[in-house]
Amino acid sequence: MSRLVLVILGKQGAGKGTQCARLSARYEIPHVSTGDILRAAVKAGSPLGREVASVLESGGLVSDDLVNRLVASRFTEPDARRGALLDGFPRTIGQAAALDELLGEDGVSLCINLDVPNELAVARLSSRRVCVECKTIYRDTDPEAISGTCSNCGGDVIQRSDDTPEAIAARLALYERDTAPLLDFYAARGLLVTLDGARDADVVTADIEAVIAARGLS
Ligand code: AMP
Repeated sequence: MSRLVLVILGKQGAGKGTQCARLSARYEIPHVSTGDILRAAVKAGSPLGREVASVLESGGLVSDDLVNRLVASRFTEPDARRGALLDGFPRTIGQAAALDELLGEDGVSLCINLDVPNELAVARLSSRRVCVECKTIYRDTDPEAISGTCSNCGGDVIQRSDDTPEAIAARLALYERDTAPLLDFYAARGLLVTLDGARDADVVTADIEAVIAARGLS
């Protein structure tokens, strides 16, 4: 089977992380979230983490060059031989071009755009809590969020430091400026499918699986 590289696009709070976790299990390809990689570096206090910590905190974007190198390195790992689900990358036209170059002939298999209105994105981000270990996403009213303990792995459930009103506004503005142009980029290549991400997560997953099957990718 050829490599399956799925780009999951959508503004913050569109459900990319939730869908990627499910699709990763279903298609046995890794969920590659550049945000998770960067946050892990910050947590570890590595040189990379120290370099990017303040950018993440403010909701800004780290440089294309740095992120491109992280993704290139991730693709050299054995589990990415069958492909990957890309979440939060590419985020700029420059990153999309670098991804094309990295993947070579096969390129991106499909780009799924999860469309949600801004108000829903803000509401989801404000109430989002996340397990620091396994990245399971909860709502602030879930028992795991209230107890602070993940029912999946026992890890700490926290609020991301960039899920504050100021950082959310900055991130959504950057999405419109830098990331939304990718919709045209992938549409021009016949790779873009836009789905309504406001619906129940199960329904969205079923839709994505149907699109992947219809395109003969699974
Ligand atoms: P996310 O988890 O995708 O919301 O990413 C969290 C933060 O990591 C972003 O607000 C950026 O500061 C940084 N980041 C993640 N992915 C990228 C990317 N592809 N390009 C630039 N910055 C990124």
